[in-house]
Amino acid sequence: MNYDYLIVGAGLYGAIFARELTDAGKKVLVIDKRDHVAGNIYTEDVEGINVHKYGAHIFHTNDKKAWEYVTRFAAFNRYTNSPVANYKGELYSLPFNMYTFNKMWGVVTPEEAAAKIEEQRQAAGITEPKNLEEQAISLVGTDIYEKLIKGYTQKQWGRPCTELPSFIIKRLPVRLTFDNNYFNALYQGIPMGGYTKMIENMLEGIEVKLGVDYLENREELSKIAGKIVYTGPIDAYFDYKLGTLEYRSVRFETEILDKPNFQGNAVVNYTDSETPYTRIIEHKFFEFGTQDKTVISREYSSEWKKGDEPYYPVNDDKNGKLYQEYKQLADNEGNVIFGGRLGEYKYYDMDAVVIRALEMVAKEI
Ligand code: UDP
Repeated sequence: MNYDYLIVGAGLYGAIFARELTDAGKKVLVIDKRDHVAGNIYTEDVEGINVHKYGAHIFHTNDKKAWEYVTRFAAFNRYTNSPVANYKGELYSLPFNMYTFNKMWGVVTPEEAAAKIEEQRQAAGITEPKNLEEQAISLVGTDIYEKLIKGYTQKQWGRPCTELPSFIIKRLPVRLTFDNNYFNALYQGIPMGGYTKMIENMLEGIEVKLGVDYLENREELSKIAGKIVYTGPIDAYFDYKLGTLEYRSVRFETEILDKPNFQGNAVVNYTDSETPYTRIIEHKFFEFGTQDKTVISREYSSEWKKGDEPYYPVNDDKNGKLYQEYKQLADNEGNVIFGGRLGEYKYYDMDAVVIRALEMVAKEI
């Protein structure tokens, strides 16, 4: 045994584990099958702009400890996420707030907006929402559901809203104020210099081997460390022997444009069902960039199949049950800790990953 711990995956979860174990005096090796660290929060410099190669990430949290932890490794800017929804050329403010309600219905006061939502909820006859569609209508009414939620959600998840769990839509705030900050979080921002630099800082002084696929070299790699922290897909670890968990994958079409400003905002969601992509990200606006050029990414959502990159676990009942079966197997793998969005098959935000990794590593130490 050359190492106390082998960490499989150099993303946020793996990097925190590596940092904490190293600081506690353990000998750690981090491997990743990609040729770079930072997992899906990886950013790459293109034309002086930090491009979020695997989708936009905005750090936000109410947890002081998580915030203090990440800010040890990077200074964060004051970016506030305020996406715009584009429905067939009509622009709406997100998340759902008084600007959205005014544009949709012409209402001016919070009371008028609340009355409009209530009227549509009653007309739809929903008392206890049982799925995402009913949850959405009961939160914001049918007009907003039809124009800003239905098409987007069905593109994003590839399933009708009636077959999706309602918790997905509860991620979005609904406010009867003119506050269009997407997140209800005390702390929010983007690491200046990019997420990759932040992860590199976490991994400073720690041995990292890139381009190493754990599952393909499992036999020899399992021998080099006493314990393993595995952050890849849990079903892949067990060779899919109980069946495959479903994931959504994402494909990005990235373009460099010879103009300083394409859409005037970091995130524009295309909420109709005809536009094939879900959103366009204009990366420079995460960092108030003033470059002459701009880089945009169109985001296309697809059903994951073997060989694709998994992004989002599909946390519905069917997959939840299968995950529980895998988890039982995982609990019996004495020397392996499963963690992160893929290892725990959970739609984690970054701050939840930080909290969870710190909690789990504290137990180890
Ligand atoms: N959503 C929507 N319309 C939008 C943005 C989001 O209906 O314009 C719904 C959709 O179901 C999505 C969920 O809200 O899956 C969560 O969106 P969020 O932006 O939090 O997702 P992420 O950034 O993690 O992809």
